[in-house]
Amino acid sequence: MKFLCDAMLGKLARWLRILGYDTELASREKDSELMVRARTEGRILLTRDKSIQGIHLPDRLEDQLVFLAKLGLTIPPEPRPRRCPVCNGELEPIQAGLPEGVDHGWKCRKCGKLYWEGSHWRRMKAFLARVRSRVENESEESA
Ligand SMILES: [Zn+2]
Repeated sequence: MKFLCDAMLGKLARWLRILGYDTELASREKDSELMVRARTEGRILLTRDKSIQGIHLPDRLEDQLVFLAKLGLTIPPEPRPRRCPVCNGELEPIQAGLPEGVDHGWKCRKCGKLYWEGSHWRRMKAFLARVRSRVENESEESA
């Protein structure tokens, strides 16, 4: 699954990348250009704009992820370091050049940013656990 988020969905785009999905964020494209770009690049267009042909999402990040999970998006229990949250570049594993005490991490091939499992990683896991349990509960209710 590859995504294209409209310019309003920067936070979601970041999270989809954290979950390992190839996700582009639109900047100045017009609505019609967005639809064309999604089609040519084979991306699912995510938007909050009802006038655009795509998947229309709720307001809050957590609700957006729950919504997408119900449409078949897998929410992993922890971040999958494949895509740079900042630029969507591919990440490669590294063992050196990291802060002291950190023995492995990832580097973005495009912008060079470094990532490792720090305290924010635990916060992300806690957030994902909340999303996953909501998906589980809500799909039980509707079954
Ligand atoms: Zn990057």
